[in-house]
Amino acid sequence: MLPYFGERFGNASSLHAFGRRAAAALDEARATVACAIGARSGEIVFTASGTEANNLALRGVAFAARRQGKGQHLITSAVEHQAVAATVSQLREWFGFEVTILPVDRFGMVDPDDVRRALRRDTVLVSVMLANNEVGTLQPVREIGALCRERGILFHTDAVQAPAYMPIDVSALNADLLALSAHKFYGPKGVGMLYIREGTPYMPPITGGGHERGRRPGTVNVAGAVGTAAALRMVQREQELHVARLARLRDRLINGVLERVPEVQLTGHPTQRLPNHASFVFQGVDGESLLMALDVEGFAVSTGSACSSGNPEPSPVLLAMGFTPEWAIGSLRVTLGYATTEAEVDAFLDVLPECVTRVRLALAEA
Ligand code: PLP
Repeated sequence: MLPYFGERFGNASSLHAFGRRAAAALDEARATVACAIGARSGEIVFTASGTEANNLALRGVAFAARRQGKGQHLITSAVEHQAVAATVSQLREWFGFEVTILPVDRFGMVDPDDVRRALRRDTVLVSVMLANNEVGTLQPVREIGALCRERGILFHTDAVQAPAYMPIDVSALNADLLALSAHKFYGPKGVGMLYIREGTPYMPPITGGGHERGRRPGTVNVAGAVGTAAALRMVQREQELHVARLARLRDRLINGVLERVPEVQLTGHPTQRLPNHASFVFQGVDGESLLMALDVEGFAVSTGSACSSGNPEPSPVLLAMGFTPEWAIGSLRVTLGYATTEAEVDAFLDVLPECVTRVRLALAEA
């Protein structure tokens, strides 16, 4: 990326030599992204985040349908990231779209039969994520996409969590739109990508110049795109090396937690989950306190519960999966990366029980 902050500073939209050089780098990055997901270059739109890519997908299709008078029904799942969930809510509340939110089972999985039953003549778009960020569950996206395709209904998937850990092919997934984010596969922060299948009715929700063929106006982050492509090439080269090892480490972690800590449950699907992803709920714990206790020990983890004004809020995803608020506030997500070692997993397992005990005592005394 460094040359594109310095001697190759050109704006890819400029016609002069500096601009053309930047445009060539951008074209190459776009081709790399397209090739990685089985798309054509012209179907890739660079954005400033995965959030933006999801926003453009949902609004772009909804607005196009509105303009063409083609229906007003959207379908999504109860476990989507806020980038999708909040966008769908706004389309419902402020733009008059009707929304069906699909339920999930206790593993956080959508049943394709529920999608089949929810599809209507006026359904414009179905949006179901590929892999869940909080509980790691992989959705039956290929089947859901096929159901949509049979009926000529557009299908979008938020694939942000997936690229480092599984191959993605837009045709195999039957996706018309697909959102990605570079920082989830070792690329830079602040770069997202949206695949829009050629011919998909789409009205740009952002207006401005003709960048990204008018689909996402705004000067493109050339250095970011170059870094994204480099990360994607690395991931394609190394993914196979890491995935089986990470799945073993993940299972070691999951089994270790379930053995060593009382009153804990695994969240998400036991097998149909991201190979690097382990997530739990602990009774009598608030997730943020546990996160801070582990942080002190040098472990960076996350929780689905948000603490606003001292009151832990349970994650809507866990509630949708049937966990009670008491269990759901004690959520913990532990993800492994390409560099994570067995020794690190074991060190984590050594400190976790003590951290949980401390947090439980503090909460009981509060
Ligand atoms: N979708 C999912 C499933 C995510 O996990 C995230 C980020 O955590 C996003 C969307 C948003 O991506 P970004 O951070 O690039 O805005």
